Amino acid sequence: MTDKRQDVSAAQPMTAALIVAAGRGLRAGGGVPKQFRMLAGRPLLCWSLESLIAHPDIDRIQIVVGEGEMELAREIVASMPTDIPIAIDVGGASRQLSVYRGLLALAPHGPERVLVHDAARPLLPASLISRVCIALRQYPGVCPALPVTDSLRRGQGVIESEVPRDGLWRVQTPQGFHFQAILTAHKAAAAGATDDCEVLRQAGHDVHLVVGDERTLKVTSAGDFALVEQLLPRITVTGSGFDVHRFGDGQSIWLCGVEIPHDRSLLGHSDADVGLHALTDAILGALGDGDIGVHFPPSDPQWKGVSSDRFLAHAAQLASDAGARILHCDLTLMCEAPRIKPHRPAMIARIKEILAPHDPIISLKATTTEKLGFIGREEGMAAHALATITLPAAGVSEA
Ligand code: MG
Repeated sequence: MTDKRQDVSAAQPMTAALIVAAGRGLRAGGGVPKQFRMLAGRPLLCWSLESLIAHPDIDRIQIVVGEGEMELAREIVASMPTDIPIAIDVGGASRQLSVYRGLLALAPHGPERVLVHDAARPLLPASLISRVCIALRQYPGVCPALPVTDSLRRGQGVIESEVPRDGLWRVQTPQGFHFQAILTAHKAAAAGATDDCEVLRQAGHDVHLVVGDERTLKVTSAGDFALVEQLLPRITVTGSGFDVHRFGDGQSIWLCGVEIPHDRSLLGHSDADVGLHALTDAILGALGDGDIGVHFPPSDPQWKGVSSDRFLAHAAQLASDAGARILHCDLTLMCEAPRIKPHRPAMIARIKEILAPHDPIISLKATTTEKLGFIGREEGMAAHALATITLPAAGVSEA
């Protein structure tokens, strides 16, 4: 990022990005405007903001948000440290007015070019930003778009007519402009333009088309969120967990969320479910989020005697919050007794139940230690677990 500032001083024309995040769109659900709804663990706005921050051609960013969302936007910007200037202002009653206000806020900084991007398009590949910036060297207005490939029909309930798709384009953002041209055009524009290319064209300028990107789709409904989440580049990682508890007096043990009659009990601060503890740690390990003791300190009396399904459910929720999915859990229980096999189906069913939304494959194995060591002497038992999860990688790959 530091190099960017040096580039600017080396007489490159200054290019600003204006992110429009002032919409009231509640159709996507979640009770907040969609640009602040979570996508894979981060507010929607973060995704395109991150792409623009990371792009070497962008020197300054202006965000316009709705009244009452300044604080939320400030928190988001603060969570993404960068040395390029980022300003936030309140937009207007319409998208067009919001863009105009954003342009006015940028004007004192003297940008020569500006890219106007909708926060509702979270996936913004660097290659798309580059295409717009390169075309701006030649043209006063640049619009990324994709050709319409589906057949088009007009009608309500029944088809009334065929619409030729030749020469039709699906228009995206970021749209790029020579700054003074778009500022002047906005000053003079009548209300009701659907985008800034229309505003520029009203002022008599040509707008040049460049190839858009299928991933840069606009999120409108809750279903769009699921679709965009599937398009995120993901990585698959594995975490491991290990746990031991000692035997003491008692008549049953809790193992993998199931109570099993036995002539001893496992001792511990909670219910001492060694299987669920190892599995919880494996999931936390895959998330890189500490261990069970960090989340549920044994020194805290509220976890005394608590059922360990709480711990596993918490790890599963952390995974969900991070946009991760638990794919596979492989658990090995180590003891001489009790026999595990008769209880295996119930244990697997219970683990699946606790991890429900993730629907992972569960493998549950048991072994003795050939009478060796503390397990062989039946002083205690141990469990080892692996959890494999898939989670979104930050940013949008160019693949
Ligand atoms: Mg434990």
